[in-house]
Amino acid sequence: MDCPKCRLIVPPDAERCDCGYDFATRTVQGSYLNHADPESVGGAHTVPDEIVAELVRAQGRRDVTVGGLIFAAGVLVTAVTYGAASQGGGQYVIAHGAILFGALQLLRGFVRMRTGRPSQFWDVKL
Ligand SMILES: [Zn+2]
Repeated sequence: MDCPKCRLIVPPDAERCDCGYDFATRTVQGSYLNHADPESVGGAHTVPDEIVAELVRAQGRRDVTVGGLIFAAGVLVTAVTYGAASQGGGQYVIAHGAILFGALQLLRGFVRMRTGRPSQFWDVKL
């Protein structure tokens, strides 16, 4: 079928044209395009903002949980090895890395939970 608004040929099972025309309601809605961040949802560009926001918030909660655990583990290792400072140089490097990484994950998680928006700046891949 083709879109009555812009005449674009669209698949028969499409619910909405790229121009924003909604076939179910026969009204022009906001286009799905340009709203969702394609990279954050695996290349899909027909995902509504609310779904993206929910996915990002869920990811944020995971980031906070994982980041918190890594951060806590880093602090714990540092605390445990503190007494053995003269011998434990290598362990310090690992613990500090975990603390930094965990803190970054936590921060990114909080940002994502607050905003519901994918943030490239904080997007450190695990
Ligand atoms: Zn159209």
